[in-house]
Amino acid sequence: MLLAGTVVVDDSTVIEDGAVVVEDDTIAAVGPASDVTDRYPNHERRELDIICPGLVQTHVHSVQSPGRGLADDTDLFEWLEEYILPIEAELTADELELASLLSYVELLEHGTTCCVDHLTVHHSERAFEAAGKAGIRDVLGKALMDRNAPDGLEEPTKVGLAESRDLIETYHRSHDDRLRYAVTPRFTPTCSEACLRGTREVADDYDGVRIHTHASEHESVVDDVTDERGMGDIEWLHEVGLTGEDVVLAHVILTNERERKLLAETGTHVTYCPSSNMKIGAGVAPIVDYLDRGINVAVGNDGTPVNNTLDPVSEMRQATLLQTIDQRDPETLPARIVFGMATRNGARAAGYDRVGELRAGWKADIVGIRTDTSRAVPLHDVYSYLVYSATGSDVAFTMVDGQVVVSEGSIQTVDAERVYQRARERFEGRTWGE
Ligand SMILES: [Zn+2]
Repeated sequence: MLLAGTVVVDDSTVIEDGAVVVEDDTIAAVGPASDVTDRYPNHERRELDIICPGLVQTHVHSVQSPGRGLADDTDLFEWLEEYILPIEAELTADELELASLLSYVELLEHGTTCCVDHLTVHHSERAFEAAGKAGIRDVLGKALMDRNAPDGLEEPTKVGLAESRDLIETYHRSHDDRLRYAVTPRFTPTCSEACLRGTREVADDYDGVRIHTHASEHESVVDDVTDERGMGDIEWLHEVGLTGEDVVLAHVILTNERERKLLAETGTHVTYCPSSNMKIGAGVAPIVDYLDRGINVAVGNDGTPVNNTLDPVSEMRQATLLQTIDQRDPETLPARIVFGMATRNGARAAGYDRVGELRAGWKADIVGIRTDTSRAVPLHDVYSYLVYSATGSDVAFTMVDGQVVVSEGSIQTVDAERVYQRARERFEGRTWGE
């Protein structure tokens, strides 16, 4: 297939009248449309407005979609204990697959081609099935909770770690390496030392498995860890082996100088979730400082109940505006930098080294974005449009691993209407945790 349009190669290179050629799951060529068309005259041609790398989100919770709009305007622990954990505890296997599928439809239709996905304790295999079916590139894992968790979610340390191994054996690198596993302790308050150390052991036993958890999201979490361990949350995670180039930490808002040095020295990845942080009143992560120190920072929507969308395009806007007001400086996080965070940095964090830019030999994870709307006129600068004006609803085309997953703005791999209908029947008006 030959895609023609304005090609955004990465966060610094744009080819105005360009083309991208895809063969199987790989980008075969990128360049000026005239050159590329001469070299590949017989490929099926498709005209798009803007062609850019698929967006990568390194912290989402696909299973939480039933809670959209249910838990607005509450603080983190009330949000978690009254709403989110009861939903996770009660979802049946069929419902969990439906919940994840609904999220994957939203993610793909809004331009996310790859995500790092924090599941819940049970039925994780059904999320892998849903991700396989939907066509998203996904690094996902079951949540580990071996203490301080409500009935229905707490499970013995060994059980959670053994099930993680079983899931890795079954699904890691499945679907031509489109699905990978992340060992996923929920966060330090719900995970014992044995659970956290066991996480490192499991991840080290398999090539390419990630570690993904929440860290230093909230003052109360950091206070609890400090009381219990005599150190900050990141310091504690480092102590038990959960820093490093295979580790993706979500939020990372409250960090001391030593912790920031640890993140930089160990190559640990940070996921910045601006909408979630604002909605829950958690605080502002010191992203500019992290970037200055060379820490790899990517972007994520977090769960649907705390956003309330899975729109990676709008999240870029939030990402820059929140840092700008925090620093009182409009030059803080320019659009190009944010675009790089939401594409290449995300792919690095997720562990895919040939994803996140449009280059020959790289994976064909590509998004097409419309410019035939009022939001796109006049269009002076493509990065400005993508970060400040566009939304995920402007995504017309999504390709993952060479497969056209979204065409004319609609998902092709799943019967979306049926998913919506079933989700309305199962989730609307339902009360949880009673
Ligand atoms: Zn989260």
